[in-house]
Amino acid sequence: KAKATSSCSYAIFDQKQHRSDESQIAIEPELINAIRRNEFELFYQPRVDISSGKIIGAEGLIRWRHPEKGLIYPDAFIPTAERTGLIVPIGYWVIQQAGEDIQRLQASGLAIERLSINLSFRQFQDSYLCRTIQRLIEKYSIDTAILEFELTESALFNNELHVREGIEGLHKLGINFSLDDFGTGYSSFSLLQTLPISSLKIDRSFVSGVNQNPDDREIVKAIIRLARSLNKEVIAEGVETSQQLNFLARFGCHQAQGYLYSKPVSYDKFKVLLESGCQITAESAANQ
Ligand code: C2E
Ligand code: MG
Ligand code: MG
Ligand code: MG
Repeated sequence: KAKATSSCSYAIFDQKQHRSDESQIAIEPELINAIRRNEFELFYQPRVDISSGKIIGAEGLIRWRHPEKGLIYPDAFIPTAERTGLIVPIGYWVIQQAGEDIQRLQASGLAIERLSINLSFRQFQDSYLCRTIQRLIEKYSIDTAILEFELTESALFNNELHVREGIEGLHKLGINFSLDDFGTGYSSFSLLQTLPISSLKIDRSFVSGVNQNPDDREIVKAIIRLARSLNKEVIAEGVETSQQLNFLARFGCHQAQGYLYSKPVSYDKFKVLLESGCQITAESAANQ
């Protein structure tokens, strides 16, 4: 009986790991407050079709507008949120915000093809995941073909049944999945074979080296070729220079995200970018 209780509490809260890290303790009550006071903001980084240079959508990236400390980036609080299980309510906030924003964009006549958000493996431990997401989809009348959840390979590494079942359940709702930071985790081709993954996101660490490092060049080419031959979308992350964009265009990468186009911006700024219809193609970027 005691065993059942402890495994149950583990699902929500990892006491031992939590106590062993003091810096995490300080941030946790603040995170609970942040949820209550609605201090999170969802920023958007445009996702651009490389051949047309048009914005086809965005990736939603969370920020914490702390009343004293200012804007806090996800790397500073997502690990704690994952460790404590607070990522579950935070993750729902992200999905509902994305739904609200898709609805607002559509109401302004600004249709997007794709909006992705990052899903943490810990969110699959919530047995209400599929039902809650289904409810949010209905509430905001989200077209699930637009929605994409980004997963990391590490999240799938343990091949846990509840993660697979969660993915299958969400896929049945029409949601797309991508593998984020592709190539940096525990890549296994069987993931591509057995999970409904529709796109691969090439990690920034490979993209940044394509013009200096022959190994990075070959890795990026191989990922593009793999994705294309498996009929998946391929997206380059962290594109910062026109030389990188040129390389990606030459080898048939479909989409790109990165500072060359835009940093992640607030909803209002993203809306302005969409309205302006501005385009950057490999040629125009090269002439900048
Ligand atoms: P990610 O999903 O791989 O997101 C890409 C990160 O690269 C973002 O950092 C983005 O701002 C940054 N980036 C994009 N283009 C460039 C570029 O050209 N150059 C450079 N140097 N960086 C670029 P950010 O927003 O700080 O997010 C960091 C990580 O936090 C994300 O990595 C993701 O794993 C996690 N994260 C963000 N939002 C959420 C969320 O809502 N839920 C969960 N579970 N994780 C999130
Ligand atoms: Mg991502
Ligand atoms: Mg990434
Ligand atoms: Mg990352």
